[in-house]
Amino acid sequence: MICNTIQLHSCRVCGYYDPNYFPWGDDGETCSFDICDCCGIQTMQDDQYPELAREERAKWFARNCEWSYPEDKPENWDLASQLKNIRPDYL
Ligand SMILES: [Zn+2]
Repeated sequence: MICNTIQLHSCRVCGYYDPNYFPWGDDGETCSFDICDCCGIQTMQDDQYPELAREERAKWFARNCEWSYPEDKPENWDLASQLKNIRPDYL
């Protein structure tokens, strides 16, 4: 599956987007082991498969979608539009 540019720079669990963030490398296949600023998952461990990503997303929803780095949370943050960044096969 080829990702679009937004999906390539977005967390597979919460959709957090940062143009300098490559959770799965610039090819979408190479795990960075980075921690997401928003939902706090670690790539590979928590998002290697769609089922895993869905589980982690459910846990994050249960935590009221809290940010792991609250200082990075934009004032106008919108969950619904962020979720649109997730590649469809991981939704
Ligand atoms: Zn995330």
